[in-house]
Amino acid sequence: MDQLFTVYLYVLTGLLGLCVGSFLNVVIYRLPKGMSLATPPSHCTRCNYRLRWFDNVPVLSYLFLGGKCRKCRAPISFRYTAVELLNAALWLLCVRVFWETSAVSAIAFAVALSVFLCIFFIDLSHGVIFDRFQIILLALGVLTTVFDPDFAWYSHLIGGAAGFLVFLLVALLFARLCGREGLGGGDVKLAGAAGLLLGWERLLLGLLIATVPLALFILLRRALGAFKKGKSPPADGASLTPTGEKPCPPEEDELPEGAFPFGPALVTGFAVAMLFGTPIITWYLALLGV
Ligand SMILES: [Zn+2]
Repeated sequence: MDQLFTVYLYVLTGLLGLCVGSFLNVVIYRLPKGMSLATPPSHCTRCNYRLRWFDNVPVLSYLFLGGKCRKCRAPISFRYTAVELLNAALWLLCVRVFWETSAVSAIAFAVALSVFLCIFFIDLSHGVIFDRFQIILLALGVLTTVFDPDFAWYSHLIGGAAGFLVFLLVALLFARLCGREGLGGGDVKLAGAAGLLLGWERLLLGLLIATVPLALFILLRRALGAFKKGKSPPADGASLTPTGEKPCPPEEDELPEGAFPFGPALVTGFAVAMLFGTPIITWYLALLGV
């Protein structure tokens, strides 16, 4: 690429990434509350001071105002600035990784990463994945399938079908066996859309990245819980119930329902697989000697 063009591309992507990040903050804050994205204009949630354009410049306004409202000095959450910076960083990575092989993929993946950011923060605090995000991801999936630089459209189709069907099966089985919902419908649709977007190889990698650390964390928490439980009663065997009663409640109910929304882990895994999946998979296959 022409050097001047490269500089221009990166600067433009960074600035645009910050501005879109600023909009994502509006989506993350307002969508779960059922508020309109356009009205009312941005304002302080405490004193209702209406932000002017110079109060709303990504990152810079936060630094200039010292993280406080101009009028009432109420602290502004650093999350707003973090989302702006994160979105810009992800977009820059997208351009770095994909632009030379396919500009369409670079743009589609950049938009998908912004959607992932919204899903991450909304699911984390509200435990819900909105259908409109799935629809955008599905449309982007169709785009990356048609414009795959290696013409590997079948990989995307297999990924889409596998993601959806496997998650559906797990959700149905879990509901049948445990009598409660373990995997939400939002997760099932998310896995399907991500499979179409990434292709089956990167879907598989993304799922591994998403589930293995989460499973380890849950196991560790349970082990620690069991360890604490084992320590607290007197050690002379008095805690054993000779009457044959169940001594403790079933382990499954220890984690409260919805304590671990799966969405944030899933989109993190998908994002890593999207950006770094191809080198990781190539390295792993070389390791196996395939
Ligand atoms: Zn204020």
